[in-house]
Amino acid sequence: MSYVQGLKCRECGRETGLAAVHVCEFCFGPLEVRYDYDAMAGNVTHASIAAGPPTIWRYADLLPELPGTDPADRVDLGAGFTPLVPAPRLGAALGLEDLWLKNDTVNPTWSFKDRVVSVALTAARALGFDTAACASTGNLAHSVAAHAAGSGMSAYVFIPSDLETAKVQAAAVYGQHLVAVKGNYDDVNRLCAEVAGEYGWAFVNVNVRPYYAEGSKTIGFEIAEQLGWRLPDHVVAPMASGSMLTKIDKGFTELTRLELVAAAPWKVSGAQATGCSPIARAHKDGSGVVRPVRPDTIAKSLAIGDPADGYYALDAVERTGGAMEDVSDTEIVDAIQLLARTEGLFAETAGGVTVAVLRKLAAQGRIEPSERTVAVISGVGLKTLDAVADRVGPAFTINAGLDDFTAALSLSARAETPGR
Ligand SMILES: *Cc1c(COP(=O)(O)O)cnc(C)c1O
Ligand SMILES: [Zn+2]
Repeated sequence: MSYVQGLKCRECGRETGLAAVHVCEFCFGPLEVRYDYDAMAGNVTHASIAAGPPTIWRYADLLPELPGTDPADRVDLGAGFTPLVPAPRLGAALGLEDLWLKNDTVNPTWSFKDRVVSVALTAARALGFDTAACASTGNLAHSVAAHAAGSGMSAYVFIPSDLETAKVQAAAVYGQHLVAVKGNYDDVNRLCAEVAGEYGWAFVNVNVRPYYAEGSKTIGFEIAEQLGWRLPDHVVAPMASGSMLTKIDKGFTELTRLELVAAAPWKVSGAQATGCSPIARAHKDGSGVVRPVRPDTIAKSLAIGDPADGYYALDAVERTGGAMEDVSDTEIVDAIQLLARTEGLFAETAGGVTVAVLRKLAAQGRIEPSERTVAVISGVGLKTLDAVADRVGPAFTINAGLDDFTAALSLSARAETPGR
């Protein structure tokens, strides 16, 4: 059964029916999916969730699945229910005693975007679309192309032409239509708003964005379920448009409302790269005004200069008592290495941003050592190998002889002797 009632404007509260629209026709505010929470009470339970599949769709009752959608018609490659793992070694390095990592690198296309795309395309298909499209900083293109291919839809994905090679090729391999645009993400997004008006496609982050955005709540649901149906004290999440962070907070709010977790305070904190930090800056300078910027950072998956959910992310962070910080490209790469070396997890640059900000907030005392803290690691390092390319490599290159190895080993041991 579906508890979805329609769409509702976040600003003026006007309600509309389920359709492929994302802005209110009265005030141009963003539309959000509306649910019948009263009808859920007593029906959506720990047991009903546990009876579902080990994917985001175990939370189908809390997702915008249109009435009458057959589970077999979901656009589903198995996203979600990713590991939540304790991180004692990284925690020790940062002075945090109860640190956990939400490892979203193991999704079907190796980033958290599979959550939002699976939900968006499932809704799009139920609304009658057979073609999906998106403006992307890379991971979204990869995920939309894969989900379209795997469900017999077709897709047009638009990316900035200067993306990491791995992300371009990974998005192209699924045989969909990949369009490289000369410009940055904000240019691509502007073009897509026009294309969406001209062609009858489901643009996952334009006309079906209300459905898309709901997919991120599943990170919050999973964290709580995996902690034994308890909320963490603190979540640190990366921010591009600010949507994921906003929806993790919404997920916790819904679980509390449905009494699926005991009511308890939580904090959400946001992470950005200094080279694209319009939301963090608005928080730190106290102005509360999100001023668009021209991105210049290696964290390309977070390089949205004009973030659609910036104000909602600010609200979530300030309302829960969290914090925002930004970090340099060098700090990002340091953090990628620190995470890999302490926990065996290789994250892309967005993960480096999250861990570097976690480190900063811990050092500033804005995360207490005893807080149960979860860092969201949202994408895999193999897609951004360039970030570490000039820092790591073979210990030594030798001929295939035991003597050669022994000689190289003693040379390198001497090189590592302290005080030399
Ligand atoms: C898209 C993305 C995010 C966050 O995106 P929002 O627009 O803030 O929801 C975080 N990490 C990675 C790897 C991403 O691709
Ligand atoms: Zn409105």
